[in-house]
Amino acid sequence: MSEERSLNFLEEIVEADLASAKHTIIHTRFPPEPNGYLHIGHAKSICLNFGLADKYGGKTNLRFDDTNPVTEDTEYVESIKADVRWLGFDWEEEHYASDYFDQLYTLAVDLINKGLAYVEDMSAEEIAASKGTPTEPGKESPARSRTIEENLRLFTAMKNGEYNDGDKVLRAKVDMASPNMHMRDPIMYRIKKTNHHRTGDKWCIYPMYDFAHGQSDSIENITHSICTLEFEVHRPLYNWYIERLATFPSKQYEFARLNLTYTVMSKRKLLQLVQENLVDGWDDPRMPTISGLRRRGFTPFSIRNFCEKIGVQRRENIIDFGLLEFCIREDLNKTANRRMVVLDPIKLIITNYPEGKSEMLKGENNPEMEDNGGYRDLPFSRELWIESEDFQEVPQKKWFRLAPEMKVRLKSAYIVQCTGFTKDAQGKVTEVLCEYIPESKSGADTSGINVKGTIHWLSIESALDAEVRLYDRLFNAENPLDEEGDFKSNMNPNSLVIIPKAKIEPDLQHALPGDQFQFIRKGYFCLDPKFSTAEKLVFNRTVTLKDAWAKMGEK
Ligand code: ATP
Ligand code: MG
Repeated sequence: MSEERSLNFLEEIVEADLASAKHTIIHTRFPPEPNGYLHIGHAKSICLNFGLADKYGGKTNLRFDDTNPVTEDTEYVESIKADVRWLGFDWEEEHYASDYFDQLYTLAVDLINKGLAYVEDMSAEEIAASKGTPTEPGKESPARSRTIEENLRLFTAMKNGEYNDGDKVLRAKVDMASPNMHMRDPIMYRIKKTNHHRTGDKWCIYPMYDFAHGQSDSIENITHSICTLEFEVHRPLYNWYIERLATFPSKQYEFARLNLTYTVMSKRKLLQLVQENLVDGWDDPRMPTISGLRRRGFTPFSIRNFCEKIGVQRRENIIDFGLLEFCIREDLNKTANRRMVVLDPIKLIITNYPEGKSEMLKGENNPEMEDNGGYRDLPFSRELWIESEDFQEVPQKKWFRLAPEMKVRLKSAYIVQCTGFTKDAQGKVTEVLCEYIPESKSGADTSGINVKGTIHWLSIESALDAEVRLYDRLFNAENPLDEEGDFKSNMNPNSLVIIPKAKIEPDLQHALPGDQFQFIRKGYFCLDPKFSTAEKLVFNRTVTLKDAWAKMGEK
């Protein structure tokens, strides 16, 4: 956390509330609906809710907003808990809106008794049609004049399963002429004869969001109920329920949701990608989900830092995906060990290095660490793998890598000079021939020769094979949803490139899931926790070393 930044508007509100003794302790909540996996947008809400409580010595609840039995599942509940913990947060209390079904029912009966709720016979379509428009008042329903006794009887019958889905609903009696459409006698309960993942078949009526959410806040004594801007128009209704029921005066505050370029962030759309097998599940490393980012190699710190950097606004905006990548690069640069990996190998033969000889060189693990993070062994011999793109038969202008006659440094090893090359029948270069300069050994260089280029390499006799997966953005368009219709038409066909047999340093065979590496000149990588096995290592590219997309934009 940077100390010098000014307070965001929520921190100002909290500080004022504590200063005026309106609250002695603040209590926030993170209220996911368990109908999908958490995404980076949720991370913003998590950091905000837990961050506020942490900063001001308050408490944060985790509350599953599980009032819609149709879309919810325990698999999602477990993944949400794992993701919140992984991000580095721990909740005070764990709740389920469904645990409040009895209390919510009693509160609804209370409103009926106050003459403030009634059972409606109209269908959802008829209710919508009678609601009017923002400029025209709605029509009051004949059911509005039902007696309290009749409403109590009908509501009990609804609860007892005497009606079918859609036959009846419970509505709040607010104001059919309100300029706010949400206040025109909103629905409080509907009938859904569906099994609920926690309450089973106990209930066949389920409360609607506005009623359930606000009253759950009150039940938990939430002081600051923070949600995204689209709920601003719901706030009068949130307050109406609290005032009429005289429950704990929770207050709702809205902030702008996180939008990111080159991705979609609604659980519904992400679910579609999963169900249509367009990605490898919710944790596909290209997904903007927390589990996808984790598998991709993002660290909790990088995500929290990202959320801190984007801050909290009251106006909608869109954040460049590059900022998220910047945050992980910044973190891994300091923590990831360096290794050499050749993705597209060709042979380099050092003709003046004795056949059969080999020696052990030393490679720095991480020059960004104070002690270089120590050193690792690098076996060196006459035949090496180098990256085919590091050799040009006819070098382009300002080429500092290998080409006939040119000298280059082999990272942590010697300077070599190209003396020739061999091609196959198709004209593809298969071998580069070099001579090395024995006095130019890294760390003990007495050759006096300066070269501009350094390339990575591996000794052929000790290099191992591994699969390397290069990920790129899932969508080509900055806003995949811009064009009307199918966002899937904007998917990037090259978002996953699999290199089945890359060459890796022998040392990498001991890599563990969670280890992070910088493959020199190639990017940051981690072991894929899902596909990697002892027999076949699979590495995921977390992020490139530089932002290739930003450069494309500059052209
Ligand atoms: P989605 O539209 O992706 O399904 P949601 O809002 O329906 O998201 P919930 O599970 O209801 O998802 O959200 C839990 C909390 O996370 C809510 O308080 C919601 O406002 C917040 N949240 C969801 N998406 C974002 C986002 N993109 N940026 C910030 N907060 C978000
Ligand atoms: Mg939702």
